[in-house]
Amino acid sequence: MSSPPSPHAQVVVDLGAIRHNVGRLRELVSEGRSQGPLAMVVVKADAYGHGMLPVARAARAAGADWLGVATGAEALALREAGDTGRILCWLAAPGADFTRLLEAEVDVSAYSVAQLDEIVSAAHETGRVARVQLKFDTGLSRGGAPRTEWSALADAARAAEQGGFVTVTGAWSHLACSDEPEHPANKAQVAAFEEALAVVARAGLVPEVRHLANSAGAILLPGTRYDLVRLGIAVYGLSPAPDVRTAEEVGLVPAMTVRGSVVLTKELAAGDGVSYGHTFVATEPLRVALVPMGYGDGIPRAASSTAQVLVGGARGRVLGRVCMDQFVVEAPAGEAGEDVVLFGPGTHGEPTATDWARWCGTINYEIVTRMGGRQTRVWVGDEAT
Ligand SMILES: *Cc1c(COP(=O)(O)O)cnc(C)c1O
Repeated sequence: MSSPPSPHAQVVVDLGAIRHNVGRLRELVSEGRSQGPLAMVVVKADAYGHGMLPVARAARAAGADWLGVATGAEALALREAGDTGRILCWLAAPGADFTRLLEAEVDVSAYSVAQLDEIVSAAHETGRVARVQLKFDTGLSRGGAPRTEWSALADAARAAEQGGFVTVTGAWSHLACSDEPEHPANKAQVAAFEEALAVVARAGLVPEVRHLANSAGAILLPGTRYDLVRLGIAVYGLSPAPDVRTAEEVGLVPAMTVRGSVVLTKELAAGDGVSYGHTFVATEPLRVALVPMGYGDGIPRAASSTAQVLVGGARGRVLGRVCMDQFVVEAPAGEAGEDVVLFGPGTHGEPTATDWARWCGTINYEIVTRMGGRQTRVWVGDEAT
C-alpha cells in the first residue's frame, strides 16, 4: 500500500492549528450570536492529507458537531476509531452496501429515488431506521437530484419515513462559485435551494439540518449558512479564496508543514545543466542543494524551476525538473543535513501551500491533499502530549 517512510522527509501536522481554526470558524459564522450554525468538519481524503483520525479527534475536541466524509469506507473508519458523533457521507455508487453504514449510525445521502430505494432495502435488512439527507443539485451539475427529480425524491423519502424505514435528517446542496462571492451563480443557487426546501416542506418533511455552505460560503456568503456549514479547507488553515480574503485575514493558521533534510550541496559552474532535460542551465557559478522528495511523494512536477523553499534561512528556487524522489534548489547558504522547508504556516520565511498552488497553477487544496509518499507524517500540538 504505502511506501516505508523516510526519516529525512516529513509532513508535520499541527493539531493545535486545527483546533484553533475550528474555534475561529465557529466564532466567525456565528457573528456574535450565541447560537450560530452547526459546524461540520470535512475530513474526507485523509483530512486533505493531514490524517483523518488525528484531525477528527482534534476537530471534535474543538467542538465539531458533525464530521463529513465522501465515502462510506471513510465513515466506517471513523466509527472503528471510536468516533461516536454525527457523521454524514455523500458518495456511493449503485450496489453500495448501506447496511454497515446504518448499523454504524452514519447519516447517508440520497441523490436519487433509486439510491433511496437501496437505502430503504438496507433498512429492511438491518431493522434500522436509516438517517437520510436528501441532496439537491441547485446548479453545480455534480452530485444531487436534478430539479426535474426533486419532487419525486422528496415524496419517496416522505413515503419511506411513513413506512418507518427512514428519518430524513437533512436537505442539502453544494455551491459552485462560492470562492467568487460576486458570481451570479451564488444568488441563483440560494434561490434554487429555497425552492428545493419548499419542495421538501410540501412533501411533509421536516429535516433537522438544511445546509449549503462550504468554507468559502461560510466565510464570504452569510446567506448560505442555514443550519450547518461544511468546513473543509479552512479547517486546515488555508483560504478557499486567497485572492478575496487571505488565511491571515480570516484568522486561520495553516496546519501542515512539509520539511526535509538537505542531502548534499554542491557548486555549479556557469553552463552546468540541472536535472532531466537540462531545462535549467546555470548562467553563473551557483551553490545548490538536493532535497529528498519528488513527485513520488506528492511534490508536483509543475513546481519545476518555479516553486521556492526555505533553506539555510533563505528562499531558494527549484532548479530544473522535479524528479520522482528528489529535486534541486538554489541554496546560497544551505549545508548538507540542514532543514529545508517546502511550505508551512509562513511565519518563519517559508512559503505557504497557497504560494505553492500559485507557482504550480493549481489550488492549495490539491497541494496539501496530494502530499504523502515516503514522508514520515507526524502530528504535533495534540492536547494529550
Ligand atoms: C469537500 C466538500 C466540502 C468542503 O469544501 P471546502 O471548500 O474544503 O470547505 C463541503 N461539502 C462537500 C459536499 C464537499 O465535497
